[in-house]
Amino acid sequence: MNSLSQIPGIGPKTITRLKKLKIEKPLDLLYHFPHRYIDFSHKTPISQAQENENITITGKVLNFQNIYTKSHKNLQKATVADKSGQISLIWFNQPYLSKTIKTGETYSFAGAVSLFQNKKTIIAPVHGTYNTGKIIPIYPETNGLSSNWFRKIIQGSLLKITSIKETLPQQILQKYNLLNLKESLNQIHSPEDSLKLIQSRNRLATEEILSLQIKSLLNKEKWLSKKPKTKLKIDSKINQKITKLIDDLPFKLTSSQKQVLEEIKNDLTNPNKITNRLLQGDVGSGKTIIALIACFITHLNNSLSLLIAPTEILAQQHVKTFKKILKPFNIPIFLFTANKKIDFKKIHKNSIVIATHAAIYKKNSLENKVGLLIVDEQHKFGVKQRSFLGSSTNPPHCLTMTATPIPRTISLTMLGNLDLSTIDTLPQNRLKIKTFLVPNNKKNNCYQWIENQIKKTHCQAFIVCPFIEESETMTTVKSAVKEFEILSKQIFPNLKLALIHGKIKPKDKEKIISQFQQNKINILVTTPIIEVGVDIPNSSIIIIQSADRFGLAQLHQLRGRVGRGNAQSYCYLFTESQNEKAINRLKFLEQNHNGLKIAEYDLKSRGPGEAFSIIQHGFPSLKLANLSDLKLINLGQKILTDLTKNYPDYNLSQFLSEPLPEQNNINN
Ligand code: ADP
Ligand code: MG
Repeated sequence: MNSLSQIPGIGPKTITRLKKLKIEKPLDLLYHFPHRYIDFSHKTPISQAQENENITITGKVLNFQNIYTKSHKNLQKATVADKSGQISLIWFNQPYLSKTIKTGETYSFAGAVSLFQNKKTIIAPVHGTYNTGKIIPIYPETNGLSSNWFRKIIQGSLLKITSIKETLPQQILQKYNLLNLKESLNQIHSPEDSLKLIQSRNRLATEEILSLQIKSLLNKEKWLSKKPKTKLKIDSKINQKITKLIDDLPFKLTSSQKQVLEEIKNDLTNPNKITNRLLQGDVGSGKTIIALIACFITHLNNSLSLLIAPTEILAQQHVKTFKKILKPFNIPIFLFTANKKIDFKKIHKNSIVIATHAAIYKKNSLENKVGLLIVDEQHKFGVKQRSFLGSSTNPPHCLTMTATPIPRTISLTMLGNLDLSTIDTLPQNRLKIKTFLVPNNKKNNCYQWIENQIKKTHCQAFIVCPFIEESETMTTVKSAVKEFEILSKQIFPNLKLALIHGKIKPKDKEKIISQFQQNKINILVTTPIIEVGVDIPNSSIIIIQSADRFGLAQLHQLRGRVGRGNAQSYCYLFTESQNEKAINRLKFLEQNHNGLKIAEYDLKSRGPGEAFSIIQHGFPSLKLANLSDLKLINLGQKILTDLTKNYPDYNLSQFLSEPLPEQNNINN
């Protein structure tokens, strides 16, 4: 059976509703799991029903009334009796029940017992075989489809008529103590008891993780089977140039930077493998210079580098940095954005192009031309975007960079085909950014202190307005404009302030950033568009308004806009929230400065879905498995190793619901 319309009780209207839940096949419906359960398995004689207990009783309906109260409320009342006694049932606004519940008939009812007008009563009981006498699954109610409806359809027919093919060999199931798939799907929708429920969830969660691991493995194999077309080499002449570039830098590379540079050099020059490396390093750890050197090597090999950044501001900044550092070498460096296009046919093939998303739409002109693709702040891009050149016959070497640390559990499972480099130290002499939580009544003191500090030391400040939408809407822009008015006219009338947000024209944005860089502006008021990458070492103060509305990882990124020079930097977290949990989260940021530690705390306190944009953007939603569950991940890995080693005929690709994408820099 492969069409929903074949299931009794499902008509065209319901099909449309189900589609909105992404349920298109009978199997999808089986994988629509309950989000919680109520245990009505306790069957009891009416006289022994205890207050506050969830129970199922079975008895004859003595009377049923449909009542309209004086205050225009509608309720239904019934009395039910068995041999041991009687109990009252009350429903609200369910007049149609009079059609299904008949006086004189016997039914089972389930619910919680309470005292109502001094009588034992079950308020809003459920009835019928699917709803009573056992553990009852509760489904998220959406689009007019009630939990009751799901129970009826799934238990009533679907489980009986859908054929479910086992995915794992019998011996594997036994060895790892897993329920078979059919039983698991049965138990998760209609659990016999709580043990079976746990076992079924465990089997299905294992399958979710395993299928990600299998995808990751297959991706890796596919990637490794491709040979690099653009072979890069580093001879002594090139090496000399690299050394000169590094010697001329205004700083010494940290040992960590040197280490990852070696890893990347080895990758790029490996004749058997296309580079596919993720470079992670906390904000301010100095990833840009590594990217620059990689582009330099590519240039010296007469090949094109393309660096893509998630915002125009960041792309412009990279162009500036690259032009400055690479000046002595006379390299063609271009900016490519939606507003500033270049003709890829006309540029020399040893150029460096720094671009925004706009380049992705130029896939056709770039295919088979790019020697090195670097994606900066990769978590800001979707999987497809990151790997947009992957389907080329000659995919480029790929280096992706991120400041969002990836917990070990996740890199173990998902990033099988990625090599990982980590810059784990910050440049020397960096002072910890002093971070303070500022309650509402201290705001003005804080503003005062900042004004004095700016006048005294000529430092600069960011004020981030509290908008956390992914893309900026007119409403958010309007409130940024309003906040800017207040700040510039009432609070800092003696300082020079400027405002940037997503709706400001790129030309103007560029001008403002450039003025800010030259310290012609004291305070830059901004929406979180500056979150990633912006590097202005003279700004040493940042205020983040309504900090409680941001995720910790994002706050850490924002805070990373300061503390990039040698001066002591300060981060002020404004919040009006009284919520203890929110305050504790912010306090954690006050005390902690290590991105990985912060991300792990976020993972624990908010769950992975929210904590890591990398997961949101890159990974499918897991229904049962939790990416912080190391035990589960290890189990999946063990099973996978077992399968590949001992079951040579086993078809791994049955776990792929769709064919592998052409290429994945990061697995999806
Ligand atoms: P991120 O890793 O966040 O992208 P950047 O590459 O923007 O960080 O570097 C942050 C700042 O640190 C820049 O101003 C950069 O010039 C500077 N920097 C990079 N490496 C070093 C180093 N080894 N010593 C001192 N400063 C450095
Ligand atoms: Mg950066």
